[in-house]
Amino acid sequence: MTASSTVALPPDFPAEVLRPDDAAYDDARSVFNAMINRRPLVIVRCRSIEDVVRGVLLAREHDLVLSVRGGGHNVAGNAVCDGGVMLDLSPMRAVRVDPAARTAVAGPGALLGDLDRATQAYGLATPLGVMSGTGIAGLTLGGGLGWLGGRFGLACDNLVAAEVVTAGGDVRTVDAEGYPDLLWGLRGGGGNFGIVTAFTYALHAVGPVLAGGLVHPWSAAADVLRFHDEFVATAPDELATAVSLFRDPDAGPLISVGLCWSGDPADGERVLAPLRAFGAPLADRVTTLPYVDWQSAPDASYPRGRQHFWKSGYLRSLPDAAIDVLLDAVPDMPSTASGIGLQGMRGAASRVPVDATAFPHRTPQYDFLILGQWEDPADSERNIAWARRSFTAITPHLADAVYVNNLGAEGPDRVRAAYGANHDRLVALKAAYDPDNVLRLNQNIKPRA
Ligand SMILES: Cc1cc2nc3c(=O)[nH]c(=O)nc-3n(C[C@H](O)[C@H](O)[C@H](O)COP(=O)(O)OP(=O)(O)OC[C@H]3O[C@@H](n4cnc5c(N)ncnc54)[C@H](O)[C@@H]3O)c2cc1C
Repeated sequence: MTASSTVALPPDFPAEVLRPDDAAYDDARSVFNAMINRRPLVIVRCRSIEDVVRGVLLAREHDLVLSVRGGGHNVAGNAVCDGGVMLDLSPMRAVRVDPAARTAVAGPGALLGDLDRATQAYGLATPLGVMSGTGIAGLTLGGGLGWLGGRFGLACDNLVAAEVVTAGGDVRTVDAEGYPDLLWGLRGGGGNFGIVTAFTYALHAVGPVLAGGLVHPWSAAADVLRFHDEFVATAPDELATAVSLFRDPDAGPLISVGLCWSGDPADGERVLAPLRAFGAPLADRVTTLPYVDWQSAPDASYPRGRQHFWKSGYLRSLPDAAIDVLLDAVPDMPSTASGIGLQGMRGAASRVPVDATAFPHRTPQYDFLILGQWEDPADSERNIAWARRSFTAITPHLADAVYVNNLGAEGPDRVRAAYGANHDRLVALKAAYDPDNVLRLNQNIKPRA
């Protein structure tokens, strides 16, 4: 049975549609994580709101599962479905900046680099993530933690309006005045409440940043973790840091403190001096550079098409026993492309009231991530086993909470931990906007019904 015989398209169907025997099908169904190998019945290449509306109605009419692809970066791979309708929003990549209003409107297929380049042309930016290839859509709907979080909050905190196609195929203009409940849910509730076809962000003045990495020898790892932890506890909001522990193919295990000072670089030189003077770094790569350059600095380390398996949680303190777990885990890491990350969530991002947006994890902490990454599918078993083992060891030190955008297919308890204190309110919102759970291929909030 072919796809065309199971999904009959009306003659006036507006969008380009790919089926399994089309040349572009395999490329369109592949996402960042090469472990994801799903085969939609049809892929609707959306270029307009009408394409999205008709795609939703197509899935509903044929009672098919629906998946939504933004940037295709999420490691859980929910952007692609098996045997259903995949809405591919990647052609909708345009960004429009209004420098006077300090807002930007971005299409749902835009990548971080698209938005950063467009806004930086005016010396402006909105907080996003830390590499240029991630999609703005999934990142923003799940939260969006990056180098500007301490000053301006998360990406979702800066989402001021959205254009949404509901699960019923209706179009809604969402902002603080119109559908404020939906705006609340889009700010951290993931893709549960509708398909966003345009994201409007608040922008801020962001000049060149003082940023880079301090690489320390493994023998200093415990001291670096402790010093860094004390240092960031009282650092100004302009500073964001992310500690990485990894195994270099030549040098063996290393620790690096990545940092970004987004205020006046002269102030940054002064504030950062003690951190840069600590210990005996093997390299100090901190320098003043354009924000867009820093935003694409890690891109080469995370190319599309590798195998990924992630385990994550929030680390609210760093006791010696937790440091011991990290010191044990890294030398044991099977792949030198993997890493353990402690991305700081502090300042403005941690001061937003828990109930102000759907994103609930508002306390100073580390977004802790065991990032398993390797090339050869034959190595999957031992890489996954390492990530699981390391996660089991660190679990006693983690809060019962996880960033929704780091989750794999980990079951309902972990999904609940991702939405935390806002879960029940999100369930009520889901019942109002998607009672049939049409949008279920995500970290799913089930409607009460
Ligand atoms: C290498 C790498 C680095 C990362 N760095 C960061 C970081 O610094 N900070 C951070 O916060 N996160 C980071 N992430 C996580 C990232 O936020 C998530 O993977 C995010 O989901 C990516 O969004 P996407 O649009 O590319 O994903 P997709 O896989 O396209 O989408 C993910 C899900 O979002 C939903 N969705 C997508 N588009 C829409 C839409 N228009 N309307 C409704 N629902 C939609 C769907 O449910 C979809 O399954 C990183 C991920 C990777 C792989």
